[in-house]
Amino acid sequence: MLDSSTVKKIAKDMGADLVGIAPMSRFEGAPRQMDPRFIMPNAKSMIVVGFRINRGALRGIEEGTHFSNYSSMAYGAINTVFMPNFVIRFSRIFEDEGYEAMPFGYESVFGNIVDSWVKPDESKPQPPIMNNMLNSKPVAPDKPAPDVLIHVRIAAYLAGLGEIGYSKIFLTPEFGPRQRFAMVMTEMELEPDPIYDGPPLCNRCMSCVRNCPGQAINPHKTVKVTLAGRQVEWGEFDPQKCLWAFRGAEPVKEGEVGYYIEGRDDFRPSPYTPFYKKPRNVFTHGEAVCGGRGCIRACMIELEKRKAIKNTFKRPFRTEKPWLVDWSDYDPNDPRAR
Ligand code: SF4
Ligand code: SF4
Repeated sequence: MLDSSTVKKIAKDMGADLVGIAPMSRFEGAPRQMDPRFIMPNAKSMIVVGFRINRGALRGIEEGTHFSNYSSMAYGAINTVFMPNFVIRFSRIFEDEGYEAMPFGYESVFGNIVDSWVKPDESKPQPPIMNNMLNSKPVAPDKPAPDVLIHVRIAAYLAGLGEIGYSKIFLTPEFGPRQRFAMVMTEMELEPDPIYDGPPLCNRCMSCVRNCPGQAINPHKTVKVTLAGRQVEWGEFDPQKCLWAFRGAEPVKEGEVGYYIEGRDDFRPSPYTPFYKKPRNVFTHGEAVCGGRGCIRACMIELEKRKAIKNTFKRPFRTEKPWLVDWSDYDPNDPRAR
């Protein structure tokens, strides 16, 4: 039987930057729709693996000169290529020992959108994967409706990898807000990691709130949940506001039109995009035009200033005032805007 340190070494040798292990009992208290124990009732361990987002992948957006690298190499390719590839191969080490193991690459990521650890608000538009949950019924009276979604950031918390910042972005002592997570749930019992108890990473500086182009992180209202017996709190997050702002879209005023978003006439470019129209997707992700302006870049800058991140650099990330694009000359009839 594998032990925890061997499992972690294998994961790191295979390319993971971070590995933490939570016993399934730490999910006690999860709402039924988000309790992974309904997915694999005999599971004993949840292994959460983190993959860093290169600081350099944010450079092009910081300079305002290259946007597709972050969306592709630090977002789409990690989510849809690197993580699924990793967890499929990594999960086999448990099945080779006779223990079922379920790899989660990207499919549960929308669990993060749920703002509290509860079933999402059905009155609001939901992303397609969430509709699986909303448009289904339980197969038996004692089971939740499929698909049960795992809140990836809560899983990372329960695996001891760090804390959830005010922005609701997961922060680790290694990379701050710069990583993405995948998971493997297995029947194998492994020695768990303690819940993160190091120096607090989020100091409620609110730089994420101030710098978010969509005002998606509420400065006043918070969400409180109890995780593994601890109170955890973050700022209420509005996924609809983020949805358009992070693509660089701004709603037009009454009586105006704009064609920034394909197939719609109600969005123009915001000051946070240099594009007349949202760029095409690469690795299925072409949306991250804001480059985490508040929740990732501003937060990382603050954490680096406070020397709260272990992955340090020779030069500060930001050396110039952040850019804004003047779209006062925006003409929806310009051929570049159609
Ligand atoms: S920017 Fe400040 S308040 Fe926001 S998550 Fe980071 S450390 Fe916390
Ligand atoms: S991705 Fe952009 S719009 Fe969304 S919360 Fe982060 S900073 Fe705000």
